[in-house]
Amino acid sequence: MAECANRIEAIIAKQKQYFSSGETLDIKKRLQQLDILRHSLKKYEHDILEALHKDLNKSEHEAYMTEIGIVLEEIRFISKRLKKWAKPKKAKTALSHIGSKSMIIPEPYGTVLIIAPWNYPFQLAVSPLIGALAAGNTAVVKPSELAPSVSGVLSKIIKEAFPPECATVIEGGIEANQELLRQPFDYIFFTGSVPVGKVIMEAAAKQLIPVTLELGGKSPCIVHKDADLKLAAARIVFGKLTNAGQTCIAPDYLLVHKDIKRELLQALKQAIQRFFGNAPENNPAYGKIVNERHFERLIRLLHNENVVTGGTYHKDTLKIAPAIINEADWESPVMQEEIFGPILPVIGYETIEDVIDLVQSRPKPLALYLFTNDKSVKRQVISRISFGGGCINDTLMHAATPYLPFGGVGESGIGNYHGHNSFKTFSHEKSIVKQTNRFDVSFRYPSSKNGLRIIKKLLK
Ligand code: NAD
Repeated sequence: MAECANRIEAIIAKQKQYFSSGETLDIKKRLQQLDILRHSLKKYEHDILEALHKDLNKSEHEAYMTEIGIVLEEIRFISKRLKKWAKPKKAKTALSHIGSKSMIIPEPYGTVLIIAPWNYPFQLAVSPLIGALAAGNTAVVKPSELAPSVSGVLSKIIKEAFPPECATVIEGGIEANQELLRQPFDYIFFTGSVPVGKVIMEAAAKQLIPVTLELGGKSPCIVHKDADLKLAAARIVFGKLTNAGQTCIAPDYLLVHKDIKRELLQALKQAIQRFFGNAPENNPAYGKIVNERHFERLIRLLHNENVVTGGTYHKDTLKIAPAIINEADWESPVMQEEIFGPILPVIGYETIEDVIDLVQSRPKPLALYLFTNDKSVKRQVISRISFGGGCINDTLMHAATPYLPFGGVGESGIGNYHGHNSFKTFSHEKSIVKQTNRFDVSFRYPSSKNGLRIIKKLLK
């Protein structure tokens, strides 16, 4: 314990010292770092795929799409635009500031801590790291101990790619986390559950460290009566069963117009069969639950529910066949906690007003999905319900583009990232007024004769 604490303290001191040297301010150097990272990820692509398979049984198709490809694309996107983003930006000059020039300079925070979860253990550690390095910070990455193979590979890759004063991985469980949270970081970027998010924010508050919290919760998916049901079913099943439902933005539960519920249930069953066959739990490309504890938790959620399809499971492989629950009770455990697994409750509704009231009365979700072509329904749902982000007639895709900020609101998180927003998240905007010495506007001075009159004209 003491040794772990000393090691962590020494690393942070080293990173802070390196940051103070000013070397990370050099944009060329940052671009070089991103390039090194890109090459390392390519070099170890096979090891990453193997680790993701071991920890979560991710197929190569899924692992490349949701973990490796998306991160390589983020490096490419950011590298192409970094020089422009890092330049000081001119700001307008207020009349009261006549003669001066104003500008905003993005500056790195310093030494940042990135804490990642186990469900996308590679992407959710590396994607914030890209933003942190691009913005000129040094970084300590703490991967999840629940995905130990990925944690090991990450540690190896970062160690080979960067000197520890630039970026380093600290592996470990609760003790390492607690020690890290005692350190004087300049920024903390956390991805994980709501309860742990509160622990992080409390620890950060003690030192007034700014935070980004990428959290979770129950994300609703609404299917209105005019939706294209076959297409909706395919896209919902894709969103729900990617990583066997262990996705923060997976549709947690479905709210379906009563008139089309029966037809949609049928289309969902067909889509599951089309993607994973008659027995998904035996399909090698279908994900497993991360560990026994989560497996048991999910099995418990099925108790006393009206499971209309799936739900069979293999404890030895930790796989659960996608289970659809018809008309789950709002008070039942499956509707109380974030499901985070291949279980989909489907609940009927009569009017879109009822849906809006229901969702509004619960914590603000991280994602929301709406299947409809009805303009008025789209407008009402999007404008009246607050949520992190989402899609109309699709699932997950809003999180897979560098052009959109990704993050929650309310209980689902604070702050956002991806693309330019990653750079902005890890940069402080420093405001500068460059005053002229050619003349001196004197109305602000206490001795000014007409000072108050002029100020009242300018500031009204
Ligand atoms: P978690 O909150 O249990 O753990 C996340 C990280 O926090 C891990 O690295 C873990 O080691 C660390 N941690 C755990 N307990 C801690 C403590 N007491 N003090 C300090 N650090 C601690 O989350 P998880 O189970 O790894 O991930 C699942 C959750 O994450 C779900 O709620 C999911 O919705 C959410 N999630 C959110 C996003 C997003 O982008 N918003 C992405 C993925 C997952």
